[in-house]
Amino acid sequence: MEPINETLKRVIKSPDFSTRYESVRNEIIEDPSVQKFISENDQQITKSVVDRGLIKLYEFSGQKQDCHDCPSVRECKNMMKGFIPKLVLTRGMIDLDYVQCSQKLVEDKRNLVSKMISSMHMPKDVLKARLEDVDFDEDGRIIAGVAANKFINAIRETGEVPAKGLYLFGKFGVGKSYLLGAIANELASMHIQTVLVYVPEFLKEMKNSIQDQTVHEKVDYVKKAPVLMLDDIGAETMSPWTRDEILGTIFHYRMAENLPTFITSNLDFKELEAHLATTAKGDQDSVKAGRIMERIVSTTVPIKLTGKNRRINQ
Ligand code: ADP
Ligand code: MG
Repeated sequence: MEPINETLKRVIKSPDFSTRYESVRNEIIEDPSVQKFISENDQQITKSVVDRGLIKLYEFSGQKQDCHDCPSVRECKNMMKGFIPKLVLTRGMIDLDYVQCSQKLVEDKRNLVSKMISSMHMPKDVLKARLEDVDFDEDGRIIAGVAANKFINAIRETGEVPAKGLYLFGKFGVGKSYLLGAIANELASMHIQTVLVYVPEFLKEMKNSIQDQTVHEKVDYVKKAPVLMLDDIGAETMSPWTRDEILGTIFHYRMAENLPTFITSNLDFKELEAHLATTAKGDQDSVKAGRIMERIVSTTVPIKLTGKNRRINQ
């Protein structure tokens, strides 16, 4: 049997192959990006360097090298999605490096930011809120905006997350939850993780989790959040168990660990205390309610949001 390299030699020497090889070679070399690379390195790139590196040049010119008009990494046609080839010279030989494309860098950054927010039962519009879109047109909202900025700036200046959050209260529809979402997004852009919880649904979920024994795990996740946002506290039907074992545990942990909690409610402190003291069955326990309230009061700055009900105009 003829050795394989003899066969190759014969094929390469055949006029048909040589013509095709020449035409492919010319096509590759005429690629403007290849031309640019060759002229930038003309001291080192001889004809034989080009010939030996032709496969690399071929791989390079067959792929996209910039992706400004590329809609997303998912639709990337390159060999490695999200990576563009870059020609380099390694010890006198043409070689390829694969580098992340600008689209991939943008998408990775966006994904990292969205991973910074975990939400439980929160409406989608709240999660899209941005501080720059919040109109601070009413007094209460201006005060809330100043307080939110103070919290954020403290992190920028000291690198540490303040232990005190905000207690935003006011009527239905004034924009309390929206403001929470906007703060969470700002924190996410600074890579600070926030867990946003819609309290009435979360407490319902906790009751249902008793059966599958996931209560402990879920409470643990919430109580340990670097920043916790509890939306709409006071709108739930409270039982002694949800009050003491769920909320009580969460507040106790956060206070002990100096972790900030943001809260929104339709109720002011006094009204919330009364709400916590009364359970669904009508039982009163002002001692336990008082204990939770003490923790909320000492770990949040209360701010009343005023203004029109924004939901009416929708
Ligand atoms: P609350 O939590 O006080 O009941 P929301 O935060 O749910 O009120 O706000 C009610 C509606 O108004 C939402 O649909 C929200 O998208 C919109 N909204 C609230 N505040 C603002 C704001 N400052 N700028 C723009 N839209 C807002
Ligand atoms: Mg709300």
